[in-house]
Amino acid sequence: MLKMKYLSLFLLIAMALTIGTAAIAQDGGEDAPTIPPLFDGERAYTHLESVMQFGPHPTGSEEIVLVGDLIIEHLEATGWEVITQEFVHDAVGVPFPVRNIIAKRGEGPITMLASHYDSRLWADNDPDPHKRQNLIPGANDGGSSTSVLMEYADMLNQYYDFNEQVWLVFFDAEDNGRIPGWDWIIGSRYMAENLDELGVTPEDFRLMILFDMVGEMDADDFEAPGIPATAGQQEFPIESYSLQSAPEHVEAIWLAAYQLGYGDIFPYRERGSITDDHLGFIEQGIPAVDIIDLNYPYWHTVDDTIDKVSPLSLERVGQVVEMYLLQLNVIQQVETEE
Ligand SMILES: [Zn+2]
Repeated sequence: MLKMKYLSLFLLIAMALTIGTAAIAQDGGEDAPTIPPLFDGERAYTHLESVMQFGPHPTGSEEIVLVGDLIIEHLEATGWEVITQEFVHDAVGVPFPVRNIIAKRGEGPITMLASHYDSRLWADNDPDPHKRQNLIPGANDGGSSTSVLMEYADMLNQYYDFNEQVWLVFFDAEDNGRIPGWDWIIGSRYMAENLDELGVTPEDFRLMILFDMVGEMDADDFEAPGIPATAGQQEFPIESYSLQSAPEHVEAIWLAAYQLGYGDIFPYRERGSITDDHLGFIEQGIPAVDIIDLNYPYWHTVDDTIDKVSPLSLERVGQVVEMYLLQLNVIQQVETEE
C-alpha cells in the first residue's frame, strides 16, 4: 500500500478554508511551519525517549513516580494548569498509590485528550514462558500515547488559542487486568466516577479522545529492502464502544484521517469492542472515541521497546486529532505576524 505523504498545496488551502482557521501566513522562514497540521512526531519521540529512560514503570513503582513527575514538569513548563487525582488501590491487602494527572487550558465545554502512562506488571503475552511474569517496558503500550499528549502540550501552547477547554489526562493503573488483585482501567474509572472531586460533572464534557498504542512503526514508511525487521502495520480500525457512543465524532475523525492521506491507517471498518480507559466515561454519558492499534505483535511482551515505535507513526495520529480539534473550533491558530 502506498501512502500519500504530502498533501498538495491546493488540498491544504481547501482544508484550511473548510476548518475556518485564522489567516494563514507564510513567514519566509526556512522550516517554520505555519499551516496545520503542526503536530511534530520527532518532538513526540523525544518525549517518548525521556519517559522510557526510567525503564518499566508499573503502578506503585518508584519509576512511575519519576515518569509522572516528568510529565507534570513538562505540562507546567508549557503553560498548563496541572492537578492530580490520587487514591490507593488495594491489591489483595497490599496498598498501591495511584495518581491520575490532569492538565487544563481554556474555558467552556471540555474536550479531553487522554492516555494511560503506567506500564503493565506482567509480560503474559511473551512467547517465552519464562518471561511472562517480567515487567513490560511499555514503549508503545502506554509510552506512545503519553508522548503524543506531551507533544500536544507543546504544540497547542505554541501555535494555538483555546476557544473551549482542553484537558490532557494521563491515567495511572490502566494495564493490570487479568493479574490477581488488579483489573483493567482502575485509574480512569476512578476519575469517571469521581468527577465531583475535580469540580465538574459529565455534562461539562463535549468529548473524550483516547489514544492507546499509537506509535507502531509501519513497514510502508520504508523502501524495500530497508524495512526494519521490527516494523509492523500501524492501523486503527473503529472500536465498537466508540462507534456506539460517538458515531458523528468517529465518522469525522476517520474522514479527517482520509483527507490527510492516512485512509489506510484509519480504515473505516469496525474491529469489535475493547475495555479501555474510555469505558468509564461512556458509562457516565460522555461521548468517547478510542484510537487504538491492538494488532501489535509485541503487545504485553518484554519486547515492547522504543525501537518498535516511530516518529512518523506518532505524527500521523497527532495530526489527525489536531485537524479535528480545528474542525470542531475547539482551538484556533494563533495569528502569525508577517
Ligand atoms: Zn496493555
